[in-house]
Amino acid sequence: MSIGSAVRPALVWFRDDLRVTDHPALAHAAGTGRPLVCAYVFDRSGGSTRPLGAAARWWLDGALRALDATLAKRGGRLVVLEGDERDTIERLVDTLGAVAVYWNRRYDVRRNTDAALKRSLRERGVTVESFNGALLNEPWDVLTAAGTPFQVFSAYWRAARRRAAVPAPLAEPVEWHFHPSPADIARCATDVDALGLLPVAPDWAGGLRNTWRVSEADALARLDAFVADNLLGYGADRDRPDHAATSRVSPYLRFGQLSPRQVWHAALAAAHTRGGTLDTNTDKFVAELGWREFNASLLYHHPDLAVANVRTRFEAMPWRDDPSGLAAWQRGETGYPLVDAGMRELWATGWMHNRVRMVVASFLIKHLLIDWRAGEAWFWDTLVDADAANNAANWQWVAGCGADAAPYFRIFNPVEQGRKFDPQGDYVRRWVPELAAMPAAWIHESWSAPDAVLRAARLTLGDTYPYPIVEHGAARRRALDAFATLKN
Ligand SMILES: Cc1cc2nc3c(=O)[nH]c(=O)nc-3n(C[C@H](O)[C@H](O)[C@H](O)COP(=O)(O)OP(=O)(O)OC[C@H]3O[C@@H](n4cnc5c(N)ncnc54)[C@H](O)[C@@H]3O)c2cc1C
Repeated sequence: MSIGSAVRPALVWFRDDLRVTDHPALAHAAGTGRPLVCAYVFDRSGGSTRPLGAAARWWLDGALRALDATLAKRGGRLVVLEGDERDTIERLVDTLGAVAVYWNRRYDVRRNTDAALKRSLRERGVTVESFNGALLNEPWDVLTAAGTPFQVFSAYWRAARRRAAVPAPLAEPVEWHFHPSPADIARCATDVDALGLLPVAPDWAGGLRNTWRVSEADALARLDAFVADNLLGYGADRDRPDHAATSRVSPYLRFGQLSPRQVWHAALAAAHTRGGTLDTNTDKFVAELGWREFNASLLYHHPDLAVANVRTRFEAMPWRDDPSGLAAWQRGETGYPLVDAGMRELWATGWMHNRVRMVVASFLIKHLLIDWRAGEAWFWDTLVDADAANNAANWQWVAGCGADAAPYFRIFNPVEQGRKFDPQGDYVRRWVPELAAMPAAWIHESWSAPDAVLRAARLTLGDTYPYPIVEHGAARRRALDAFATLKN
């Protein structure tokens, strides 16, 4: 097929898949030989779902610029538009006379937008095809023998692992032909600057800028480095926030700068196998991808996962209204060092270690008896990897109201968790500088330390660092009593 303005283009609609490698919709579109238009639509209102949080907006800004730069090196551009997704894509198709639209599927409520758009475009004779670029398995492909969704992770993951091998990731297209009429495109496009995704007055994103590089190349480099340096110790070290032992690929997966197939195959290529069995480190690591899949499947079957308890009896939970407790938790001023370190890591970097996420979530829900939805909303706003499935499902898991959730009576003791997973206190010292001079023996429980230790560490409790805002034993009993009311 000759390439020129007479040849009508194909549109690739990028969404949560801001990459050019292992991108099934892009690969298919390029394979048609038609000139490509690569587009992204930003709906400020969130459309059928909730708007992005502030940290995710910061990440999106970088990811769009990076994708645009990648396409520019190949002779094209990312066409950035703003508006209602369905209207905007329909208008773009009309303006360009596009004959085909391709995208990778989404599994939250926005799939309704996609289905409606697919119908209306097809009625007008436009070819529309969607692909799986976000998951190892589609949610409807991993079901119980009775055809129902799994409620238990281990059974889900066993069934998923029995399915056919995960296909190898696709390379980026070898040949790129872009729609040759920038004027057409300019008529409907805006640019990333105009989306105003970055914070101004105040610009609070310095810590994020220092922590992250947001391109697809950075995602692949981070994955390679993890597989080379940390995969072998993952099983033992993954719970240690004082060690940088996990992959930190979560925001790249969230925005699709990395695909789960790429992560899967990178891990398996490096894995040590014996008698066809994966070593425990790799097995554990890919099982975390399994949790991501399980959560996506939960969201698919429970579109209101962020607001409605999966176990509905939790709707009667007597949550406390405690604005000052919530504010202390958000600011990392609860007086529990591991909790405070985690909340400050989150504020500074947009990310928090998984073990600490579990501890801070448990603290909010159980020690403060504050509705998990308040914590979910704070994470939604502050995490660069804030993900509709993983965030809501994990909060429900900690609260005990989700599918396959931790039992409600499992109430983490933040002091014990600190001693176990940050034994030298290095993680706390890094994020809570008021405690920097505290010795390891007392750092997780400074209020019990002898005066001489506090003086030597220049720590004045209630002044330079708060006393615990709740006492662990009393808070635990209060949480168990509240839970007991659900049983009655
Ligand atoms: C209260 C709470 C809220 C959370 N919110 C989110 C969120 O919004 N977005 C998010 O991606 N993860 C969330 N998680 C899961 C987990 O904490 C992060 O995925 C993980 O810390 C990311 O770091 P990593 O990439 O180094 O993980 P690794 O340990 O290297 O794991 C590799 C990948 O597996 C997936 N994964 C790991 N743990 C989990 C898990 N428990 N559930 C689902 N997927 C997992 C992630 O995609 C991760 O990038 C949450 C956990 C808790 C307890």
